[in-house]
Amino acid sequence: MNIHEYQGKEVLRQYGVNVPRGKVAFTTEEAVQAAEDLGSLVVVVKAQIHAGGRGKAGGVKIARSPEEVAIFAGELLDRVLVTHQTGPEGKQIKRLLIEEGCDIQKEYYIGLVLDRSLGRVVMMASEEGGTEIEEVAQYSPEKIFKEVIDPTVGLLPFQARRLACAIRIPTELVAKAVHFMLALYNAYMDKDCSIAEINPLVVTSSGDIIALDAKLNFDPNALSRHKDIQALRDLDEEDEKEIRASKFDLAYIALDGNIGCMVNGAGLAMATMDIIKYYGGEPANFLDVGGGATTEKVTEAFKIILSDEQVKGIFVNIFGGIMRCDIIAEGVVAAAKQVELTCPLVVRLEGTNVGLGKKILSESGLAIIVADSMADGARKIVREVGIA
Ligand code: ADP
Ligand code: MG
Repeated sequence: MNIHEYQGKEVLRQYGVNVPRGKVAFTTEEAVQAAEDLGSLVVVVKAQIHAGGRGKAGGVKIARSPEEVAIFAGELLDRVLVTHQTGPEGKQIKRLLIEEGCDIQKEYYIGLVLDRSLGRVVMMASEEGGTEIEEVAQYSPEKIFKEVIDPTVGLLPFQARRLACAIRIPTELVAKAVHFMLALYNAYMDKDCSIAEINPLVVTSSGDIIALDAKLNFDPNALSRHKDIQALRDLDEEDEKEIRASKFDLAYIALDGNIGCMVNGAGLAMATMDIIKYYGGEPANFLDVGGGATTEKVTEAFKIILSDEQVKGIFVNIFGGIMRCDIIAEGVVAAAKQVELTCPLVVRLEGTNVGLGKKILSESGLAIIVADSMADGARKIVREVGIA
């Protein structure tokens, strides 16, 4: 789960990570008030969306008076900001961070991420801050330094010192940088983050070390033990279809293709996407309806799949183990009738009472294409929809 920059900074502040003073604003009036409360000469107006690259896209503005704050806030609020991370459709700005301006001397990069191949959390640092770290990784990988962290002892001060020296933090500020890194690590571990990225980390002309940007992502499987983080969820930033699916306990992830998939079991759902691609098609989603797929759940799943305008056909691939195929078939038929399905529907059933299930499908009066195997089903739906 992702949160906004201003929320991330609040979380980090609790752990003693140095962040600028700032306040969130939902309206121009709130923005001006926040700037006045801050009372600093220079104020930065920052678009809050769940994507980076805002600076380059015009989503970060430096204001030198309350009048300027009002102008920038008016320009940014409700505007759709397109950055290299939002995709071409962009994201609408609904919140702003009004933050004290910072006298930047140099920008650095610090990130914490789980390296799955090592099975360890890794702290990365670079003196190429402010720019995209992906580009640094591609064109000058020697400028990225890493420390692999042993979970039994955590990030050790000598490792933080080694990183601070590697990225050439001024010697007199190394102790502050070490404190910063250890605090960041504590926040990352304590809150079960999957990513904590500070880009840029800055050294100011008054000799402070401050996180000017903060991107925190959280492991969704650990959210149940962090009610405070759950409360930071911003549904406006999430895919509407995915939110609806989570209400019905359906595991749904939107993808770019045109073949809607309805499957039971995550493994079978993955295999279904693979086989669709194998036959030249593109799945529109991952969807696991789970073990006890009721008519109500199947209907909701159909509705969610069909609310994606890209979908040109649906492939239902269900294994009736505990669930019987005849029950599933009845559910599919009832759901297809209820949503008045018009696009091609290929159904592959296997398992208990499969004969009866197929009979129900073929006698339903609906234009359901029955498949005999997974490969047969994938081939049929790709033939109906066309090669992507
Ligand atoms: P993004 O990564 O989305 O572009 P950042 O928060 O990193 O957004 O801001 C982009 C740039 O704007 C920073 O690299 C920094 O140079 C400048 N900036 C951001 N916040 C401040 C601030 N409080 N004071 C001064 N400059 C800032
Ligand atoms: Mg940034």
